[in-house]
Amino acid sequence: MFSDKIQFLPTLGGKTIVMYQNYTFSYVNGKRCLRCSRKLTMKCDARLTLDAQGNIVSALTKHNHPPPKFHRTSEGLYIKLQ
Ligand SMILES: [Zn+2]
Repeated sequence: MFSDKIQFLPTLGGKTIVMYQNYTFSYVNGKRCLRCSRKLTMKCDARLTLDAQGNIVSALTKHNHPPPKFHRTSEGLYIKLQ
């Protein structure tokens, strides 16, 4: 049902980006629920719910903004472009 997988991308700053369908997400309430990282700035309602194994059990992927753009360095690290 949810064929797309969540990707975990390392950033130049040593953090990890959680990406799904080219959009970035942030964990809330532990590791079972993710919200669009533009929730606060754009009031975006997109969210993902995971099971204990990290599989997507529910996905609300209607964003009200275009996906963020990233630059990939030669080392395979990602930099968010504004
Ligand atoms: Zn969004």
